[in-house]
Amino acid sequence: MEYVNFDDALMPPDPFAGDPNDPASFLEPDDDGPAGPVSEEERLMLQEDLANIRRFRTLLEPRGVRGISMLCEDCDELHYYDWPIITANITTMLNGDTVPVHEPGADPDPDFYVSWEYCAGYADAVDWMNRGRRGHNPRFGH
Ligand SMILES: [Zn+2]
Repeated sequence: MEYVNFDDALMPPDPFAGDPNDPASFLEPDDDGPAGPVSEEERLMLQEDLANIRRFRTLLEPRGVRGISMLCEDCDELHYYDWPIITANITTMLNGDTVPVHEPGADPDPDFYVSWEYCAGYADAVDWMNRGRRGHNPRFGH
């Protein structure tokens, strides 16, 4: 096969010369802001998260749930976090350190992870049942 070599002089100059979308801009660091001391408000939220996580784990780990799945806003993908990892991550945040959020687990099986909403709903249901049990067994219906 032979290509005819048209006059090179007719070729336009580098079409990307002066392109404002410099590909190198992808190399700029994330704009997530530096890790630092957490605010009082953040600290309270994290402590609440931590308390929730411990509760969820107590309730769900015996049922075979290994951790929580969360949709990552950066990757637009689900990430799977084992209980000890979530606990460690929140503790790390409480200390004002950066958390390696995108560190994937070792080939996690999605079947063993549930969403935060699932955990919260489950914990609520358990609360509700316990409340019923502690009181004088309310009767429904009849
Ligand atoms: Zn991610």
